Amino acid sequence: MKPIQSELKAWMDKNENFKTNYTRIKNEILSDPSVKAFLRDHPELTDHDIEKNLMRLYEYKSQSKQCDRCASFGECQNLMQGYSPVLSMDKNEIRLSYEKCHSRIQVEEQEAQQKLFQSLYMPKEILEAKMSEVIQDKSRISAIGEIISFLEEAKSGLPKKGLYLHGSFGIGKTYLLGAIANELKKRNYSTTLIYMPEFVREIKGSFKDDSFNEKIDFFKKADVLMLDDIGAELQSAWFRDEVLGSVLQYRMMEGLPVFFSSNFDLNELEKELASTRNGVEEVKAGRIIERIKQVSSVVKMSGKNRRDE
Ligand code: ADP
Ligand code: MG
Repeated sequence: MKPIQSELKAWMDKNENFKTNYTRIKNEILSDPSVKAFLRDHPELTDHDIEKNLMRLYEYKSQSKQCDRCASFGECQNLMQGYSPVLSMDKNEIRLSYEKCHSRIQVEEQEAQQKLFQSLYMPKEILEAKMSEVIQDKSRISAIGEIISFLEEAKSGLPKKGLYLHGSFGIGKTYLLGAIANELKKRNYSTTLIYMPEFVREIKGSFKDDSFNEKIDFFKKADVLMLDDIGAELQSAWFRDEVLGSVLQYRMMEGLPVFFSSNFDLNELEKELASTRNGVEEVKAGRIIERIKQVSSVVKMSGKNRRDE
């Protein structure tokens, strides 16, 4: 069997039309500035090498390079979205490979940032809460002062204590937690914010299945943990001691901050924690309160119920 190249050449010699087309396309490829630049850098390539690799050069020519022809990541025109072609030499072969383009790298970085604020079952307004939009009236002044110093300290490392924000319903405790989480995101800290009744449900739902330890670990190890609305849902002694107690114990030992919001002050919370379906267990409740004090500083908030507005 004759080599395919010479077969092709013979065939082309007989087919003028094809030959003209082929020559036109070849000239187009070779006059492309990016292909030209590559060939200029590799004078060792013979005509034969170029001919042999024409398809690769064509593919290289046809693709947008580092977003030069794409308006945005979403409008990427390349064969593989977000990948830019690169030509190189491998021994005497021209190699065509693909690398991530600038836009793809940027999008991936943004996605990674987004993941830093994981919140479970939180409304959109909380996810988008901004410190700059928190109204600084008298009733919030001490909470805001504490938050500002926490965020200031966080510039040079994560503080060991978060805050225990307590006060009546509707005064913006949860909103403040969301705003803090968004500030921490800017500093590359990961925050997990969860509504306490959902935390209980989530953990109970995975009890005895494979994800149980994984979930507990997730709450133990987040840079910053925020437990929203801690209080009356803790009638289960098992959850109080084995889940909440162990998560707080771990974070206390590791010096990882926890934020809480609650309608109860610590004395009231202690009473809530003591009364479970097992009866009144003051010592065990006291143990949890001690841990809460180790991982957070208590701040009382007041103000009007913003839900009425
Ligand atoms: P709490 O957790 O104390 O019960 P929330 O944080 O849920 O209160 O706040 C009650 C309502 O007021 C929510 O709808 C919340 O989005 C809104 N809110 C609270 N603080 C602010 C604020 N600083 N700016 C805008 N809206 C706020
Ligand atoms: Mg709330």
